[in-house]
Amino acid sequence: MNWEWQQQAACIGQDLLFFHPDGERGRHRRARQLSAKAVCDRCPVRRQCREHAVRFPEHYGTWGGLAEEERDGIGGSGRPFGRRVRRASV
Ligand code: SF4
Repeated sequence: MNWEWQQQAACIGQDLLFFHPDGERGRHRRARQLSAKAVCDRCPVRRQCREHAVRFPEHYGTWGGLAEEERDGIGGSGRPFGRRVRRASV
């Protein structure tokens, strides 16, 4: 698995913005997701990130500008995963 693209990620060190805390719902969740997507909009590796999230698949968090519910049904095996922490802290 090639993770080198993550070295260029615009979201390095921002996992709290990209993964929802337990029990988060409604407008708080939507606001956090919009903030995360704004970071994705200026990310140079958005395409690689989105392809990774759909291929493996990643079930939690915002990846490649898509929230988890937006990735449902886009490819992948449907295998359950635990929460995965991504991106090296730099
Ligand atoms: S596109 Fe992926 S790597 Fe880039 S900021 Fe968004 S979640 Fe991070």
